Amino acid sequence: MTKLKLGIYWAASCGGCDVSLLEVDEQILDLAAAADIVLWPCAADVKYDDLREYPDGWIDLVLFNGAIRTQENLELAQLLRKKARNLVAYGSCAHTGGVIGLANLSSREEIFSTLFKDHDPIPTEVSQVDGCSLELPQFLNRLTPLDAVVSVDYYIPGCPPPREIISAVLEAVISGKLPEKGTVFASEKNLCDECPRERTEQPITKIYRPHEIEADPEICLLDQGLICLGPATRGGCGAACPNANMPCTGCAGPTAGVTDQGAAMLNTIASLIGVGEEGEAVLQDEDAILQEIEDVIGTFYRFSLASSALGSVCRE
Ligand code: SF4
Ligand code: SF4
Repeated sequence: MTKLKLGIYWAASCGGCDVSLLEVDEQILDLAAAADIVLWPCAADVKYDDLREYPDGWIDLVLFNGAIRTQENLELAQLLRKKARNLVAYGSCAHTGGVIGLANLSSREEIFSTLFKDHDPIPTEVSQVDGCSLELPQFLNRLTPLDAVVSVDYYIPGCPPPREIISAVLEAVISGKLPEKGTVFASEKNLCDECPRERTEQPITKIYRPHEIEADPEICLLDQGLICLGPATRGGCGAACPNANMPCTGCAGPTAGVTDQGAAMLNTIASLIGVGEEGEAVLQDEDAILQEIEDVIGTFYRFSLASSALGSVCRE
């Protein structure tokens, strides 16, 4: 039987997604038996010129992690789209922009002056270092998820994707039974659907940050005043964070059919702090309650700002 050709690539990535692939333990041996890994910069040297020589569609499947932040990320996304029969957005940075998408709140100049505040002069893409000219890939004005620049066949959510989902994907790859294009490898329902906590949808009277209270392990975290993004987040991880007594921060992105995860969650919160059907407040201190939420964008759009409706009004 001909072995599959598999590629793994990282763009603007922390490296966690590459490491997460190893969490499947011995299943990695089944993968090695079924597929040749023809591209994995994290693990083996690769020359982009060699990649350009591959025939179009030659790689059966590329797992692409990380977002598009630089010209190099963009060019490799376009090249891999041509070389791969199946291109997969792996992890929340590729899927929705991820936590690094919050950088879209700042302009390129602001990011550079913050990063290099003690550096005079601030480096540019072409800099002189020790007498040599160093040319770096252009830092784009705005970060985007993978499907903003090329078409994507499958999505694997999570930061990084959980073991169960990676395992299901590898099983589909190894057996040659990939699902319909466009599939998101996760639940069609929200996280609350698989969370074992008892949810009573109590009105919220005070908002807490996780370090401020010791949450009851049986009761819904939202009911206890902790902002848990479970109602607006795609399930599939087995409610890993609520099971560890921590609120969901939304890394799996919006539920099926929803494009703006943050807006969906704000809607849920508005209903829980007692805004009536006609929009009138039914609790006394709803403004004060909302002001207890520190960093509203970072709370509601932590992983999805770059792919949200708000993304289009971010700084350039
Ligand atoms: S999704 Fe999370 S683990 Fe993966 S590259 Fe982005 S930040 Fe890192
Ligand atoms: S703890 Fe979070 S995920 Fe669980 S039921 Fe409550 S809101 Fe949903």
